[in-house]
Amino acid sequence: MDTVTYEFKAETRKLLDIVINSLYTERDVFVRELISNATDALEKFRYESLTREEVFDGHLPLEITIELDDKAKTLTITDTGVGMTREELEHNLGTIAHSGSGAFLAELVEAAKKDVNLIGQFGVGFYSAFMAGKTVRVQTRSWDKSEGHEWLSDGAGAFTISPMPGLRRGTKIIVELKEDAAEYAEKWKINSIIKQYSAFVTFPIKLDGETVNTVQAIWTKNKNDLKDEEYVEFYKFIGNAASEPMYRLHFSADAPLAINALLFVPGENFEVFGFGKTEPGVNLYCQRILIDQHSKNILPEWLRFLKGVVDSEDLPLNISRQALQDNALLAKLRKVITKRFLKHLDEEAQRDPDQYRKFWSAFGIFLKEGVTSDYEYQKELGKLLRFESSKSADGEAISLADYLLRLQPDQEEIYYINGPSRAAIEAGPYVEMFRKKGIEIIYTLEPIDDFVLSHLAEYEGKKLVSADRADLAITDKDEPAAETDAAAEEPRLDKETVATLTAWLGKVLEKSVAEVVVSRRLVDAPAMIVNPDGYMTSSMERILAASRKEHGMPGLGGSKKKMEINPKNPLIIRLAELQRDDEEFAAEVARQIHDNAMIQAGLSVDPLEMVERNYKILNRVVQ
Ligand code: ADP
Ligand code: MG
Repeated sequence: MDTVTYEFKAETRKLLDIVINSLYTERDVFVRELISNATDALEKFRYESLTREEVFDGHLPLEITIELDDKAKTLTITDTGVGMTREELEHNLGTIAHSGSGAFLAELVEAAKKDVNLIGQFGVGFYSAFMAGKTVRVQTRSWDKSEGHEWLSDGAGAFTISPMPGLRRGTKIIVELKEDAAEYAEKWKINSIIKQYSAFVTFPIKLDGETVNTVQAIWTKNKNDLKDEEYVEFYKFIGNAASEPMYRLHFSADAPLAINALLFVPGENFEVFGFGKTEPGVNLYCQRILIDQHSKNILPEWLRFLKGVVDSEDLPLNISRQALQDNALLAKLRKVITKRFLKHLDEEAQRDPDQYRKFWSAFGIFLKEGVTSDYEYQKELGKLLRFESSKSADGEAISLADYLLRLQPDQEEIYYINGPSRAAIEAGPYVEMFRKKGIEIIYTLEPIDDFVLSHLAEYEGKKLVSADRADLAITDKDEPAAETDAAAEEPRLDKETVATLTAWLGKVLEKSVAEVVVSRRLVDAPAMIVNPDGYMTSSMERILAASRKEHGMPGLGGSKKKMEINPKNPLIIRLAELQRDDEEFAAEVARQIHDNAMIQAGLSVDPLEMVERNYKILNRVVQ
């Protein structure tokens, strides 16, 4: 076959345009990207060759060579990795690896505008060669021994592929530098880029014949032999990061499994920057040989924000990637490492609470995801959760352990209530009795929080209970709120009237509530909505309803609520009279009280109906 010309795919052209024009200031990264691809190709070859008797060009040393020619203005990077077949060449260097989604491109542009350092998170890849290259020539021969080929492009709209006999295994990339990029043919420049970005590449990099990196697996070294800077540099290398990590954990174990692990929590949470779901960032090695890059198997999904390396010589070296998924040993390894990491977080939280607060506000969402999705680590995760509470300062979060220290003498349960803000919760009816009794109540301010606490179910043997539950253990069991009050003199409805009123209200509101009862816990507010269902809180119900709506599913209608009324509240007292004098209007007022209580519970009401009713009531007031 002779030379064939191909057009780049539309998204590829777009990406090329962005890389060449918008990311221009970050030109150095192209060297890193090409070295990183060479490393990937070498890792793949090493991994594949483990299971073969014989491999093509097996005698070639696994290494990366860089040659510079300042006269011809070229930079050439050669590796002895897997190489590419003709089809691979056409596919891999003609389309975008990242599934070429438009969303990816949009994110890339946004990120580049905000902070060019974030670009590293994307891995702009092979096409970055065109930042500095007038033309890029890729000469490659696959380890399957098929014929070699040359790929050539000027990064505009097209590329060509031609047969090229006589190549060895691997890939040679020749970048013919642009006029203003001549410095990339100078040794000092390339040397400094390698020092900055690629110092930890696990294969020798030879620059004009001289090895410029020290190949080292720092995770297998002794902690005492490593400096902070070395850790930071290593983190930046494997995390493609520009800033320092927030935490690091370096540990070794011999039993029950031989492990060397080096894990980092990044300086920031990239998922909240709108980059989409973070890909796992921990690589799995066996005796320093990479067996699973960005492994989905070595840690649970909710720890996907971690970067680092896990190396275990207990794993079989020739394990296939598919077999990793349900390998029992790996499952054991995952458990040991996860527990060790969570323990580390707990220790860090004790050691430096301020730093842990920073961690929590950036990454707490992942731990919450862990509680709701993974039963296995609930005990460890429970210790790490933080929430605001009625006894915390505004904006400050406490742990469940802090809460337990402040339990009231007879208190058997841990209480929480959801709301959009501290102010909204404190103005609502649910916290009244807690305030009166001096019982702490946790404020769950995020929509996911009620799911988290309901999954967790208990902490240190104390049940976690939402304060909008109908049957709180803490309410005064025998007497309605007002009767236990010292101020029993205050006006209140007598038992008989209350019985008539609740029965009547039950009828008026029968469409939406299961029952109307006298409250044993309201202090000031006239009424509140409570949930008979022990599991579902109002907040959870609201979220489920919203999500069903979003997916075009009919609402579930929710479980029927109970409404509690406060016989001491002036409005309720007047309502009893009104019910006798003008039942029809009293029913309107009753419905309005119900709707108000629903809103305070964060639940939805029919707004049109409510506004109409509201005007009716107002009309009567201004008469
Ligand atoms: P990524 O490395 O994220 O996959 P790149 O744009 O850097 O994306 O590279 C695209 C693909 O081209 C790689 O996945 C790989 O299959 C192939 N490739 C690039 N460089 C090499 C190389 N030196 N040797 C073999 N394959 C390569
Ligand atoms: Mg790459």
